[in-house]
Amino acid sequence: MKKTDMQGTITQYCKILRLPQVDLSYEDEAIKATKTKMSYQEYLYSLLQHQVLIRTDNSINAKIKKAGFPFIKTLEEFDFSFQPKIDDKLICELGNLNFLAKTENLLFIGPPGVGKTHLAVAIGMKVAQNRKRVLFFTAEKLIEQLNAADVSGKLPSYLEIMGRIDLLIIDELGYLKMTRQSAELFFKLVAKRYEKGSIIVTSNKAFEQWGEIFMDDIVAAAILDRLLHHSYPFFIQGKSFRMKNITGK
Ligand code: ADP
Ligand code: MG
Repeated sequence: MKKTDMQGTITQYCKILRLPQVDLSYEDEAIKATKTKMSYQEYLYSLLQHQVLIRTDNSINAKIKKAGFPFIKTLEEFDFSFQPKIDDKLICELGNLNFLAKTENLLFIGPPGVGKTHLAVAIGMKVAQNRKRVLFFTAEKLIEQLNAADVSGKLPSYLEIMGRIDLLIIDELGYLKMTRQSAELFFKLVAKRYEKGSIIVTSNKAFEQWGEIFMDDIVAAAILDRLLHHSYPFFIQGKSFRMKNITGK
């Protein structure tokens, strides 16, 4: 077989086997192998390793994209010295994701700008990096979707899908009050994930005020009961990080 024919066929085989990285790198790797006197086995190892690394990266990136984070922030970027009340060791431990296996929930409660969304996203990023499924919603968006699913008769399948993801993040609960119907749909979602999958909630409202969010003390108590049963609540106080430079800390 002529060299050019062989190259064409290799490209074709790589396409069939879905190994684009092998196709891209096999010639350069072959030159390197000759120079460094690699064994055949080492050459194959290096080709496959390139492909695997690229695919892993792609799958993590896809998970991060699908999560719908409002911004990308990591735990490493969080300045714990600015929030000394937050137990940094506990947060870092949560970054190891043991809470997911135990289907525990995390609640970040506090005023605007103290890093609630940052922490929720950062833990969500760890989940995606572990190739697990994470979805981020504002409470408003989630309620909108729940209502849309309900109206079109697709609530059971929607709840089924939401029940299966590894981590559900619900941001900014409490900025908007809910109708009774929305509060009940929200309860159904929380009940669906209860002891099946973790939820992270961020809210500017203390638990005593949740009756106002859901316009009903009984529904609020039922939701809190399930969220808090196996959970880590964090009450964050202090200054807004957004005002850090303005206040001259
Ligand atoms: P919240 O959700 O509590 O209103 P955010 O998480 O959106 O606040 O934080 C506001 C901005 O300040 C974000 O850009 C976030 O990354 C940043 N931020 C907040 N707290 C910290 C912190 N302790 N260290 C680093 N950045 C922070
Ligand atoms: Mg926020």
